[in-house]
Amino acid sequence: MNRSSLCLSLTGATITENLQEIEKYNAYCDLYELRADYLEPLSIAALSSFPEQVKKPVILTVRRAADGGHFKGSETERCGILRRSLASGYRYVDLEEDFQDQKTEQAAEVSGVTVIRSFHDFSGVPADLGRRLRNIKRNPGEVIKAAVMVQNTQELLKLVELALELKVRDGWGNRIILGMGPMGFPTRVLSTFLGSSITYSSAPGRQAAPGPVDPQTLVDLYRFPLIDENVRIFGIIGNPVIHSESPGLHNRGFSLRAMDDAVYLPFQVDNLEAFFRLAEVLDIRGVSVTIPHKQGVIPFLSSRDEGVEAAGACNTIVWRDGLRCGYNTDISGFTAPLKESMGGAIPAGLRAAVIGAGGAARAVVYALRREGVEVLILNRTVERAKELAAVFGCSYGSLGEQERIADYPDLIVQTTSVGMNQEDPEYDPIPDYSFKGGEIVYDIIYIPRLTPLLKRAVQSGCRVINGWEMLAAQAGIQFRLFTGQDFPREASSGIADQY
Ligand code: NAP
Repeated sequence: MNRSSLCLSLTGATITENLQEIEKYNAYCDLYELRADYLEPLSIAALSSFPEQVKKPVILTVRRAADGGHFKGSETERCGILRRSLASGYRYVDLEEDFQDQKTEQAAEVSGVTVIRSFHDFSGVPADLGRRLRNIKRNPGEVIKAAVMVQNTQELLKLVELALELKVRDGWGNRIILGMGPMGFPTRVLSTFLGSSITYSSAPGRQAAPGPVDPQTLVDLYRFPLIDENVRIFGIIGNPVIHSESPGLHNRGFSLRAMDDAVYLPFQVDNLEAFFRLAEVLDIRGVSVTIPHKQGVIPFLSSRDEGVEAAGACNTIVWRDGLRCGYNTDISGFTAPLKESMGGAIPAGLRAAVIGAGGAARAVVYALRREGVEVLILNRTVERAKELAAVFGCSYGSLGEQERIADYPDLIVQTTSVGMNQEDPEYDPIPDYSFKGGEIVYDIIYIPRLTPLLKRAVQSGCRVINGWEMLAAQAGIQFRLFTGQDFPREASSGIADQY
C-alpha cells in the first residue's frame, strides 16, 4: 500500500535545538528535513554528526534566500557545506532545479544520497508547471518536488489536476507536490492520494514556508497515517476557514466510528465554480458551507431541502450519484439544544427577541416561527430587520430600542458577530437591557463559550445556551447526512472543553 511519509522541517538555530524538536515529535514523523540555512555557523560545522543522532532518514537542505530560504553566503560556500556533509549518512539532499555544481551532484551519487530536485514559487502556481516538472529530472533516481504558493481556488484545482495526471502517467511516488498557504493546505493532508511520497510539516511558530501544519495536528486531527488512495474526502468551504472547529468535530467523529477511510478538510474557497470542479476531481462526498458561501452555493445545487428554501442559505452539500444535494442543518442545529433545555419541546405562546438580521438570524427566525414562537427582531441596520420581519411575520426594530425586549421576555437569541473572540464587557450588543433572571439567553457565537452577553446573563441568574451547542448539534446532523451514521456525542466534548 502506498503511503506518503511525514517529514518535519527543522528550522532551529542549533543542532541541539533541532534534536529537542525531534524528541517532541518523533512519534509522529517518518523523516526530517534539516534546514541548514537556519543554522548558526558552529552548528553548520557539526552537520556531519547529525544523521547518526537522529535514527530516521534526514533530508539535507541549504536553501538560498532567492528560493525562500535563509542562506546568505555565496554559492561556492553553499556547495562546500553540501559536499562536506553528504557522506555522513543523509538519505536525501534537496537541490533546486537550477542548481549548478557537478561536484556536489557527484558527491551525492557516490554517497548514495537521493537528490530531491525542487522547484519553488512563492508568487503562485506557474502556468507551465507541468512542463517544468516533466523536464526537471537530471537522473532517473531523483525525486521531483514542486512547492508553490496557491493564491486561489483555480490554482488549487490546477495543482491537484497536475498531481493526479502525473500519478496516472508515471505511477505513485518519487514526486512531491505541495501547495503553500491556506488555500494549498489540502495538498499537505492528501499527499498519499495525490501521489506525493513526502508531506512536510513544521513545529508551531517555526514555519519554513507558509502553510505547513505541525505533525501532531496532521496525525491526531487529520489522521494522516490512515489516508490512502481510496480516501473518502469531506470538508468545509469558507473564506477564511483554516481555523474552523468543524474539522475537529468531524474527524473525531470518523475516529470514534472507526471510519478509517474518511477525512474532513478545510477548503479556503474564493471561486465556487472552480471549487465544484475540484470537488469532481477529488470525488468529494460532502461539505459544510460557511461564511461567505451559504447563499452563493445555492445556484450550484441539484436539489434543496425545505430549510434551504426557507432560510435562503445552504450549509451542507452531499454528493449523491453525481447530484449536489443541499441542506440547512443550522435550523435543526439551533432548535435541538433549545428544545433540550426546555424539556424536549418549545412551549406554545413563547415570545422571543432575536438580536441581528444576518444570514444566521434568518435560519433562527425561521426555526422559531416554525415552532409558533412570537418574534421581535432588533438589528443595527433596521432595514434588514424590517425585511426579515416581513418574510416571517415578526415585529422589528433597531438596536436602539432594547427596552422592547421586555415584551418578548422568554428567550433572547443573539445572532450578531458582536462578542465573537471577545472577553471585554463592551462587546455586548444589548448593554441597555437588564436581565430579569427568567429569560433563556442563547448566544450562537461559539468562541468564547461565554460571551460578554452570556456572562452578564449568568450573573443575573438566567439559563444560557452557547453557540458551541448549536455548532455541535448541526455538525451532528451533517455527519448523519455525510455518513448515514449517528454522530458520537463524545466527538464534541473534548473540543468544547478548550474554551
Ligand atoms: P452576517 O450575515 O454577516 O450577519 C452579521 C450580523 O451581525 C448582522 O445582523 C449585523 O448587523 C450584525 N453586526 C455585525 N457587526 C455589528 C456591530 N458592530 N454592531 C451591531 N451589529 C453588528 O453573519 P451570520 O452568518 O449571520 O453570522 C453571525 C454570527 O453567527 C457569527 O458570529 C457566526 O460565527 C455565528 N454563527 C454560529 C453558528 C453556530 O453553529 N453556532 C452558525 C452560524 C453562524 P447589520 O445588518 O447592521 O450589519
